[in-house]
Amino acid sequence: MARRNRKRTKRHCLGDQLLQRVKRDYDHTPLSEIGSVIADGIQFAKHSDSEESGEFLRGIENCLDALPSGRQLSVRFGFDATLIQAIRDQWTTGKCGLPQMILPKYGNEWGHQPIHLPSAQRERIPRVDLILFPFGDDLDDLDLLVYPWLVHELAHVLLMTVDEPFGNELHTNVHEYLKSARLRALAASDTVRQRQESVLRTIEDGWIRNGKGGNWAFEIAADTVAVWTTGPAFLTCFCDVIANHRLDLFRIDHSHPSYEMRTKAILMVGDQLGWHQECRELTSRLD
Ligand SMILES: [Zn+2]
Repeated sequence: MARRNRKRTKRHCLGDQLLQRVKRDYDHTPLSEIGSVIADGIQFAKHSDSEESGEFLRGIENCLDALPSGRQLSVRFGFDATLIQAIRDQWTTGKCGLPQMILPKYGNEWGHQPIHLPSAQRERIPRVDLILFPFGDDLDDLDLLVYPWLVHELAHVLLMTVDEPFGNELHTNVHEYLKSARLRALAASDTVRQRQESVLRTIEDGWIRNGKGGNWAFEIAADTVAVWTTGPAFLTCFCDVIANHRLDLFRIDHSHPSYEMRTKAILMVGDQLGWHQECRELTSRLD
């Protein structure tokens, strides 16, 4: 068999397997709408002669691995999905709102994972936003005291729907800061200047360069929305996290600024809202 035909047969087999999996996991379930979008994508790739369609099908397979199966939805899944729906209704106004497809998923910690469903219409790729809840999907695993973090994660989803949520002002301010810091470093020795340059590059990456929805500005904004929305309940949740003596308050990564910086930002917001008393314990954690 010619190499091209072998590849096509292989693609057909993978496409059929994936269609069976979608039928088994999504047909006649609360997630059937997602299943039908995925099935359309599979049909498109199965019948396409494009060399890329094999990769497209493997992308669909990865999506299916990440998404919850519609056949195994727990009572807790129903509770969390209903809560998300209620918050979506509250937050959706004429100008902005949360997207339709937001699903709970269970893991080790809170998080947000956007999944882009491979679509035949490349210009309109549907997205499913997974909100990662700790820990298991059993009702016994549910702890409402930590649910202000749900609002933080939904704020990430909301911010992804807005083009340029921080305008140009953030870029201008960061660049001005970097420029004056580099000028001040001119008189320093080569070693000091090199070290400082590495720190400044981290600051630039953290605030500006890293992708949409994944830089420090989004993290601070999500914390701010959580304080505005759930008030002292979020301050307490945050306090519980930084009370963990194994947590490094000064650790940074590409999407998260240090907890020290986040704490200061949250305290500023709490203070502006007049929760001076409620901010006290969090303030003491920084001492
Ligand atoms: Zn976050």
